[in-house]
Amino acid sequence: MWPEGSQPTVTEAVPFVATDAHRLHDPTIEVAWGAPIAMYECVERGDRIEAAVRSAPGFEQRPTAERDDAEVDRAIDAVHDPDLREFLANGWSRFQREAEPRREVFPDVMLHPAVLHGMDAPRRPHDIAGELGWWCWETNTPIVEGTFDAARAAVDVALSTIELVVDGHRLAYGLCRPPGHHAPRAAYGGYCYFNNAAIAAQRAVEAGVGRVAIIDVDYHHGNGSQQIFWDRDDVTYASLHGDPRRAYPYFCGHRDEIGGSQARGATINRPLPAGTDDAAYAAALAEVLERVDDRNIDLIVVSLGVDTTATDPLGDFRLTPAGLHACGREIARLGRPMVVLQEGGYDLETVGDDVVSWLDGASGAAYVFPDAHSDR
Ligand SMILES: [Zn+2]
Repeated sequence: MWPEGSQPTVTEAVPFVATDAHRLHDPTIEVAWGAPIAMYECVERGDRIEAAVRSAPGFEQRPTAERDDAEVDRAIDAVHDPDLREFLANGWSRFQREAEPRREVFPDVMLHPAVLHGMDAPRRPHDIAGELGWWCWETNTPIVEGTFDAARAAVDVALSTIELVVDGHRLAYGLCRPPGHHAPRAAYGGYCYFNNAAIAAQRAVEAGVGRVAIIDVDYHHGNGSQQIFWDRDDVTYASLHGDPRRAYPYFCGHRDEIGGSQARGATINRPLPAGTDDAAYAAALAEVLERVDDRNIDLIVVSLGVDTTATDPLGDFRLTPAGLHACGREIARLGRPMVVLQEGGYDLETVGDDVVSWLDGASGAAYVFPDAHSDR
């Protein structure tokens, strides 16, 4: 472990894990406010991030660890309902057979709690159309033929990355795509199918590292991660995000959500206003990190979204790449081993350089003004 409060410069190359299997998840449309639009969470995002990290100095690509699918499935089941995994494995092909051929499959009914309020517990439907609305909570998250294989491969990336840190690396980066932080225990949505960060955190706990914190710096609140660890005192969930009064996912991320009765204070939420810039973000982050530090954390999992920048189409913050660099640096200054897993970031022109800026901050590398921002 690093000396408390130091800004460690990682002198070794930062290992990063990525996989071509993310390309199997290639939806072309999502349904946003009732209209089909081009899918923001697209293959090109992953390819651009990988290209940028590969070509930046100071990183070294590592393969995913050798393991069979059953081991990945067990890791998924440690935080998710096994029936969710089963549904995602078969849902697309069932829809083709039992409903009608569709490239992207979406629910058109969903279980609203008021439908059965005050009555008997809901029963899981048998029909594929009903099942979609049982497992999926919104309409931005289609399943396509390769979704399950890509989502499972992203979990494999997360596991391989956390193992690098459990085995002694101070910092490692996993390019998880699809992302994960919007997926709760028993549902998928928000471009997320399996919660990569939660699975990594759980794996670290099982490996005996001690107390883990997920620090979520994506623009959006990680409702799935919060739900999974709501009543767990051994895993802190801390998030800075667009205020749910205006920002997706709308239903949680308020400041007074602090964890369940067994874990009061283990959930830390800092909703932030539109237009949040580098200085305002840094001040909020300092406050959050002080709280995290007070919880005697042994290992940090970062949910890294770079949809906090001024040019991101899905966020309304105004961070610059220098602000991202500072964010990585300040989290590293906690002096704990750190696993960084990719969540959002949707400006295709800048997403790769933005991830590199953040990681350079975390590794202690100097800030380099990225080319992609030079004409903006
Ligand atoms: Zn996001």
